[in-house]
Amino acid sequence: MTPILHRIERNGRHELTITSIFPAGTNYIQLPVWRPGRYERGDFAQYVRGMAQRTAEGWSRLNQTELHQWKAINCEGPVEVRFHFTAAHLNAGSTWTDDHLLYVNPVNCLPYHPDLSDVPVNIHLPDVPSDWKIATALPNNVDDSGVHFQARGTQELMDSPWIAAPANDLWHVEYNAAGHTFHIHVWGHRHYDDDAFVEAHQKFTEAQMAAFGWLPVPEYHFLYLFPDFQARHGVEHEASTVIAWGPANGLLHEDDGPSAGLAEVIDIASHELVHTWNVKRMRPTEWMPYDFSKASPSRMGYIAEGVTTYLGDLFLLEAGVIDTAGWLTRFEKLLTRHLWNPGRLETSVANSSVDTWVDGYKLGVPHRRGNIYVEGAVLAFLCDVTLNRNGGGWLTEALCELTGPNRERAMTEDTWWSTLERRAATRGPEGAEEVRQLRTDFCDGTEDSWPEIVNALMHQGVEATLEPHSDALARCGALCGKGREGRTEVKVCWPESEAWNAGLRRGDVVESAEETQHGEIAVNWKRDTVHMEQSTLRIPAGNGHFARPILNAFPG
Ligand SMILES: [Zn+2]
Repeated sequence: MTPILHRIERNGRHELTITSIFPAGTNYIQLPVWRPGRYERGDFAQYVRGMAQRTAEGWSRLNQTELHQWKAINCEGPVEVRFHFTAAHLNAGSTWTDDHLLYVNPVNCLPYHPDLSDVPVNIHLPDVPSDWKIATALPNNVDDSGVHFQARGTQELMDSPWIAAPANDLWHVEYNAAGHTFHIHVWGHRHYDDDAFVEAHQKFTEAQMAAFGWLPVPEYHFLYLFPDFQARHGVEHEASTVIAWGPANGLLHEDDGPSAGLAEVIDIASHELVHTWNVKRMRPTEWMPYDFSKASPSRMGYIAEGVTTYLGDLFLLEAGVIDTAGWLTRFEKLLTRHLWNPGRLETSVANSSVDTWVDGYKLGVPHRRGNIYVEGAVLAFLCDVTLNRNGGGWLTEALCELTGPNRERAMTEDTWWSTLERRAATRGPEGAEEVRQLRTDFCDGTEDSWPEIVNALMHQGVEATLEPHSDALARCGALCGKGREGRTEVKVCWPESEAWNAGLRRGDVVESAEETQHGEIAVNWKRDTVHMEQSTLRIPAGNGHFARPILNAFPG
């Protein structure tokens, strides 16, 4: 089978010229609508201009017949198309080119045809300077004509990003875990201690390899982008991950260990490696294989991202990368995000999974939905403890069973829940009933999970309490934070709270808030940041709203 060929040239700053040759009979070409790892439409055709086909008359413009499709003029012989792609976004899922870096996520910028998904694909980078290095999970070679990559088909191609950069800017090291080679590639400044950075990877990799017992790919690559500007993001791929974090000078080792930024990078790295089994190996049926031509919602985002978030941190604890106090701090933070989102009481985490395709990655209107990462991780924790309390082992073991080398890669919600139920029924049917209840209340339902969380933590030897928020206005229901130009803005207003009933909403500016002696608070605020208002709110008895969860391990 003649491979499909993509030649990718760096056409000055922030633009690529891509020339692709498809076999005869390719009646149209298409650009992906979304990219795995981000469950919303990306509409990558928006970065394309000048789509043309080579004909006897030269390059002839193609007509766009669908939002992301161009019809070939003639497909009797090989179909050669050429276009320009604007590559000016730098995050963990994007494509970027300038004088110092060529970073390509193929699913952003390479055309394909759905009927040719098994045709091998060759990539040719003719103008990468000879003193540049390459980082990618794709097999590659360099000759006089440039750099060449090979992918077995469309699925592998679209899930295999690469970085090319001057050798001095692209650091590489390998380590071995359970007989597999793992690569760390870092583009950008490294202000931290390299050995400690690699050691953390070695530890959490070993913990994950010991738990899962196999690696679904021969080798694995961590591709890091540490720019000098703000970035915080990771994306999983089949045999690699891209993690972008900046500014790079926030990644340091301090006297007492990694800086907060560096700890966050390690947290993301552990999360992304868990995805190698949960999502890359086993994934919701809706994504097996990935259909790049249309939005692909699934109700199982809470498994894909929630379980991964929960286990990513747990593996760090198991590996000794963090200690119990470190895990409790992370879990406290997670619970705070959970408790402070009234949307979890509005839309279930399963429905919120589908809903990411509507507005899942932006702020969205207030208290509309849950967060699949946060609410999904809390649910994963509750499942983990329920399994264990009923003699069903741990959640990791259930996941290992489902992601084994001989298992179906496509998973349904029923497979997931029936596996948990069966394992929880080890000592009797009550365990299975408990799992069913978790699903009813916290997966398909929108019950308040706090009492269940307290219970589950108690089983783990952790006392969970709530501490009233130090800000009286937050206790009244208006959680404020820093807004534009240093103003104090309402970030979340709890529905039906005192503050809500006084008319406060997200975005309103609080000019002053003073407690009176009568258990009240006098608030001067600007509705829609414009119209001055004055309200007196009664501070609720007890914790009020936005109480902070405090976790403490019981001694011994
Ligand atoms: Zn993830």
